[in-house]
Amino acid sequence: SIPLFLHLVIYRSTSSTTLPSFLLVGPSGAGKTTLLTLFERGQHAETRTSQAPLVVEVSLPVSTKAASSRYRSVNDPSNQFHKKFLLADTPGHGKLRHHAFDSVIKPQNLKGIIFMVDAADISVWHSDTGNDPLRQAAEYLHDMLLLLQKRFTSSKTSKAPKELPVLIAANKLDLFTALPAPLVKTALESEISNVRSSRTKGLLDSGIGMNELDIGEEKDWLGDGGDGKFEFSQMDEVNVAVSVAGGNVLGADGPDSKELGLGLSWVL
Ligand code: GDP
Repeated sequence: SIPLFLHLVIYRSTSSTTLPSFLLVGPSGAGKTTLLTLFERGQHAETRTSQAPLVVEVSLPVSTKAASSRYRSVNDPSNQFHKKFLLADTPGHGKLRHHAFDSVIKPQNLKGIIFMVDAADISVWHSDTGNDPLRQAAEYLHDMLLLLQKRFTSSKTSKAPKELPVLIAANKLDLFTALPAPLVKTALESEISNVRSSRTKGLLDSGIGMNELDIGEEKDWLGDGGDGKFEFSQMDEVNVAVSVAGGNVLGADGPDSKELGLGLSWVL
């Protein structure tokens, strides 16, 4: 199924002067560059790339209809415009993640975050290298969600930050080893539960005083206060709407124009 919240957001934002932007994050190898490349190829001229993070100004072909326009009359002038938005790719490597976090803290008309994972890779533990892709994805996602939670809990004004949609995009579902999206969801939720408890334990083991770190205080604990399992729905309370969708940027039939359609319709 296709993530629907993004449709509405893109449509509503076209009249504003600042382009709506989406942040594309996730572990390396997930398919982020591939998705951006498809966007770039699918547009006419105005590709603008900056240093890091990579920002691409995307203008969707008129023929690509956002689902939000499905109910519009064919004569509605808003159907005639290219829908433009910025998609920012951020390096998936741990040391470079502050780029992604910077963008979260200082949103420039940020409309949503796409967290992309390789659904085939996270089902594998690489015993030769000790590399655990599920754990890595869960750590990245945990840290990002905690940051978004803090954005809410540390808000000084009486007005809470407005709802931010986070789409977990389970990519590469064309591979038969890939976990289906509902399993990607539960795998990430339970691994985030593990990350959460080992983070707390790690801080305690390091001998740093409780007071210095506010351990156990709500603000450093992702999700609700309980010791139970972490669930994405717990983020609703801090105005972060997490949804999970599966898809593939590249088609199973080899490279052809169909890929582009898949890539576009997925994010739209
Ligand atoms: P990034 O590190 O997140 O930017 O990942 P890349 O875009 O570089 O993709 C990593 C690899 O996965 C590349 O070899 C892509 O061709 C491949 N890839 C990306 N999307 C898909 C997909 O939907 N299906 C399959 N089978 N491979 C994909």
